Amino acid sequence: MSSSLTVTIVGGGIGGLALANMFEKTNINYIILEKATRIRALGSSLGLDATSLPVMEQLGLLNDFYEVSNPVRHFNFYNDQLKPIGRVDFSDLEEIGGYPAIILDRPAFYNVLLKNLPKHKILYNKRVLSITQGEDGAVAKCADGSAYLSDIIIGADGAYSAVRQNIYKSLKQKGKLPASDDKPLGYNQHCLVGISEPLDPEQYPVLKNDFADFEVVIPKTDPFYAIYMPLPNNRISWAVIQNVPRGNAEKGAGFRFSEWGPEASKEMADFVRHQPNPFQGTLGDIIDRSPEISKIMLEEKLFETWYEDRVVLLGDACHKVVPSAGLGANLAILEGVYLCNLLVDMPEVTQKNITKVFETYYAQRMLAAKAGLSKSRQFGKVMGDRGPVSQFVRKIFFGYMPAKLARKSNEQRLQCRPQLHFLPQVPDRGSIKPLPQEPRLVFNA
Ligand SMILES: Cc1cc2nc3c(=O)[nH]c(=O)nc-3n(C[C@H](O)[C@H](O)[C@H](O)COP(=O)(O)OP(=O)(O)OC[C@H]3O[C@@H](n4cnc5c(N)ncnc54)[C@H](O)[C@@H]3O)c2cc1C
Repeated sequence: MSSSLTVTIVGGGIGGLALANMFEKTNINYIILEKATRIRALGSSLGLDATSLPVMEQLGLLNDFYEVSNPVRHFNFYNDQLKPIGRVDFSDLEEIGGYPAIILDRPAFYNVLLKNLPKHKILYNKRVLSITQGEDGAVAKCADGSAYLSDIIIGADGAYSAVRQNIYKSLKQKGKLPASDDKPLGYNQHCLVGISEPLDPEQYPVLKNDFADFEVVIPKTDPFYAIYMPLPNNRISWAVIQNVPRGNAEKGAGFRFSEWGPEASKEMADFVRHQPNPFQGTLGDIIDRSPEISKIMLEEKLFETWYEDRVVLLGDACHKVVPSAGLGANLAILEGVYLCNLLVDMPEVTQKNITKVFETYYAQRMLAAKAGLSKSRQFGKVMGDRGPVSQFVRKIFFGYMPAKLARKSNEQRLQCRPQLHFLPQVPDRGSIKPLPQEPRLVFNA
């Protein structure tokens, strides 16, 4: 195990904090540079499944996650008259992969990931602006004038990654940036999210369950749909996803700052609040009982380039998927697992070895990210598209898709259950065998 490797993780979000927990179990010296001044309790929830939970069990965090989450059982679909139009059963996920799919709110997620991390290793209020690389290492420079030198930099800084923008600028100057990576992220959905205050289970009976049934209302004509996800402590996390004309999420055509911020959230809330909710009353009733709501755009893009010399990307920084299939956080965590497994075996910090690690990491993860993007897009389209054809597809998908086919798809996805090879392996409890661990990398002297 390399003892002298130093790493700067840019971004203390899901991917960065998960990776830091893995590095804590190694001799790798790391720090996290996070631009926020504190963890923001942004009102949305996240799901984890059997692909990333084995590693959380290895890290001793599984029960912490179970305590603050609900296991997901079904997705129930309704039209705008609240007539049931279908159900997707996820209750066999635990039997297939050995772990249930779980849902929890983002602040609870962060609290679990922060639990075992030494405070001095996470530096807040550090917005990374630029990256320089040389033979001695890579330097991340921050907006406050500070600079941090390390052997490698990992960009876990989300969809608008400053790390990515820096290496792409350098690659472009060298004529090595693929044309598709030079284009901004695209989007054709806006999303309004929030989490309610604790509600009365008599009024919202789904809150009496010790599992989460997601209730999804898909209107026939209105260009949006709403998802209600019960959380522990009698709260409901909700999201409304609205189709909009395709735009570019950075500078270019279609982007207007006026579409974001509190006024924009209120405007979208007013537009959707009339829709009936599946419990009683309207979506507006739940919006009004949610202390903080946010309007976000759901960007989508798979970047082709994930590294340059001593700098590598992970999570939303290299692939942004729409949230409909609940894959984004899982993908970011899994990338950390593969990268950590490779870095731990690196005997010496040389550019040759670093390149070998980054090339292997890319080869191991690129296809999975591509599949994640496509699955998320498909699921999003089934729920979001309008018109007679889409209605027909929904009818088949929700009503007639044989249970066998749905199970096959889950079996395929949940086969990827890697573990950190340098920690004691946790026993596998799934009925479907996990894919074999990747072979350890051999480094030439
Ligand atoms: C509404 C919604 C619902 C979702 N539901 C799910 C779900 O159910 N399951 C799932 O798996 N995924 C879900 N996702 C996706 C998931 O949130 C992301 O994919 C995941 O957070 C990606 O992790 P990340 O570490 O790559 O980025 P993030 O978690 O976004 O973290 C990036 C971090 O980098 C910091 N940062 C940014 N720029 C800089 C800079 N220049 N310098 C320093 N720090 C910087 C940011 O402040 C942030 O803390 C959902 C997303 C949305 C929007």
